[in-house]
Amino acid sequence: MVDIKRNPTRPVRIGSVTIGAGHPIAPQSMTATHTQDVAATLEQVNALHAAGAAVVRIAVDSRHDAAALPAIRAGTRANLAIDLQENYRLAADVAPHVDKLRYNPGHLYHHERDKPWQEKVRYIAGIAATHDCALRVGVNCGSVDPAKKEQFAEDDSLGPMLASALEHCELLDAIGFTRYCVSLKDSDPQKVIEVNRRFAAERPDVPLHLGVTEAGMPPDGIIKTRIAFEQLISRGIGDTVRVSLTVPNADKPQEIEAANAILGDIAAGRVRSVVDYGLSSLNIISCPSCSRVENEAFIELAKQVKAMTAYAADHAITIAVMGCRVNGPGETDDADLGLWCGPTHVNLKKRSRELGAFPYDAILPRLREELDRLIAEREHGAVAH
Ligand code: SF4
Repeated sequence: MVDIKRNPTRPVRIGSVTIGAGHPIAPQSMTATHTQDVAATLEQVNALHAAGAAVVRIAVDSRHDAAALPAIRAGTRANLAIDLQENYRLAADVAPHVDKLRYNPGHLYHHERDKPWQEKVRYIAGIAATHDCALRVGVNCGSVDPAKKEQFAEDDSLGPMLASALEHCELLDAIGFTRYCVSLKDSDPQKVIEVNRRFAAERPDVPLHLGVTEAGMPPDGIIKTRIAFEQLISRGIGDTVRVSLTVPNADKPQEIEAANAILGDIAAGRVRSVVDYGLSSLNIISCPSCSRVENEAFIELAKQVKAMTAYAADHAITIAVMGCRVNGPGETDDADLGLWCGPTHVNLKKRSRELGAFPYDAILPRLREELDRLIAEREHGAVAH
């Protein structure tokens, strides 16, 4: 297991689960049923809960949806969250039946346009406090606060998201409501990485809910999300996660299974993108493998690399072992030493420089040679190429 240093976030309790403050990263999901169809919604809530969802979110778009909540609450032990859409006043109807309310700063403008957003947030926070609910400030690339957008260049999509999240945190803190987390979502994993890194640099104390919106169908949706989570969680960023997948209703628990698989892989160093865990010791990463692996010997090789390189444990060197020629060549560019596996040979690289292809039974001694050379170069202050 990799010892990942987590950001010193505040604890935020959501029903029976607490996120932040070093608690395990909690996977969550959302129902896709019609909320008013209580039987179908309850079946999905309970299926997600059984799959390990720490929190299950339900969409509430109207008073009719809100009216279904008491029956849903009565039929499940899951921790429930709801999305307040444009009608923020629904908070009063739903809060008695759930554990967390999510509001989107960009949606607070649609109703009562003359009322300042600060007043609306005070209202929501007051309701949350009265009914023992946590809050999520959920900022989304597709619905950013228009007033914030005006302050940034048209091609800067992250600036307004970040500014909006930060000003809501500031207000919630000022009114003494600190039981909240923040999410900053986009459909582009690279933007998710960047905006969450920037937010965490400014507010390392605020727990983050990570997710890539509209990630799509598996396996692509899982891969996109995995890359964002790898780059953030490896740096201690993220306290709860959602993998959003386009799957039939009956398959929704796949979101939790995917989240748990990704979290387990990151903790074990099985990653698809080259990850810098910020360690001052040897960092061996290997991809989690998938149907693209062309030679099963890759699995054994990954283990052998780990065993063989143990002698270099105190050196801050990243070695990546990737299972295929589709992603391997590109993904190894950022590692100090990279191996990617073809059908009969293993390709060795030093950063982006190719050192040749070697049979599976010849690669380990060759890797050792390069590792020794790299250690010597570092010790003598030479620049490694
Ligand atoms: S590197 Fe290749 S084999 Fe490994 S997980 Fe990625 S696509 Fe699959």
